[in-house]
Amino acid sequence: MMVENYSKQPAGFLNIPIPKDIDLVQAIKDLRKEKNAIILAHYYQEGAIQDIADYVGDSLALARWAANTDADIIVLCGVHFMAETAKILSPEKRVLLPDLNAGCSLADSCPADEFEAFIKQYPEYTIISYVNTSAAIKTLTDVVVTSSNARQIVESFPKDAKLIFAPDRNLGNYINSITGRDMLLWNGACHVHEQFSLEKILELKKQYPDALILAHPECKSPVLKIADYIASTSGLLNYASQSDKKEFIVATESGILHEMQKNNPDKNFIPAPPNDSTCACNECSFMKLNTLEKLYNCLKYEMPEIFIDEKIIEKAVKPINRMLELSEKLGL
Ligand code: SF4
Repeated sequence: MMVENYSKQPAGFLNIPIPKDIDLVQAIKDLRKEKNAIILAHYYQEGAIQDIADYVGDSLALARWAANTDADIIVLCGVHFMAETAKILSPEKRVLLPDLNAGCSLADSCPADEFEAFIKQYPEYTIISYVNTSAAIKTLTDVVVTSSNARQIVESFPKDAKLIFAPDRNLGNYINSITGRDMLLWNGACHVHEQFSLEKILELKKQYPDALILAHPECKSPVLKIADYIASTSGLLNYASQSDKKEFIVATESGILHEMQKNNPDKNFIPAPPNDSTCACNECSFMKLNTLEKLYNCLKYEMPEIFIDEKIIEKAVKPINRMLELSEKLGL
């Protein structure tokens, strides 16, 4: 299904100047109150945005808050598919994304026309899609998952069920390995999580021999094999807080370190290095497109806004609701 992108970033929007003498944080708080808006932020956002947000969470938590808020405006400080998910769950609300260019290489690795042609070859299969997909992919999906619930939702299907998992091959491989399933995998990946270097993590481990290695399941399997703990962003955060260890090497987008450090000021969190030491490749460049300045202009001018065709919303909401219902039922 071809889906037209109705959301547009007005020309010059990103260059609108901010008044010089403004207290940006206070101004954002005032606008939020005046407009009955809620600011939802992902853990990969820059620290200043996490600090001002009403809620900070992973994709599952963001979806739940978006579905249940009574605010008039949802400002989603994350990437495009997260704002789309919020709009699909709350179509009557206005959903804003501070920079519409905040995409996702993983979602982009699964174009809807190619995926549709792929699944047509397997009509008897159930389609499981990671939430990091476009609304168009969600219309082709039976149930959506996040990294917080993927294992349990896959296990809720009979052992011999025929399943397709998209788009992340690393997460799919990992779920296959821990559940003993043989899901067919779409060959997609996240450019940030694929960058972590096994060799450099092992070198770092020599410097910090007591550190535990924490990894997100979007990392490649050699990194997952040496990890002490593998989980979603919220799973890693909980583990770091509950562990009596004091040092951790963290293999996921480095924005998570802000919340980890805030919750555990007495512990040391070391970002896992990427292959290329000359770049900040363990940061998601899409996530970091959102800034406090853009958040201010986004609230002030109430744009850029997410628009999705009603027919797409009607179809895409079903697999997301199925995920939320299953998560509830499974106690997640
Ligand atoms: S870290 Fe990877 S999966 Fe997450 S938003 Fe960025 S590109 Fe997408």
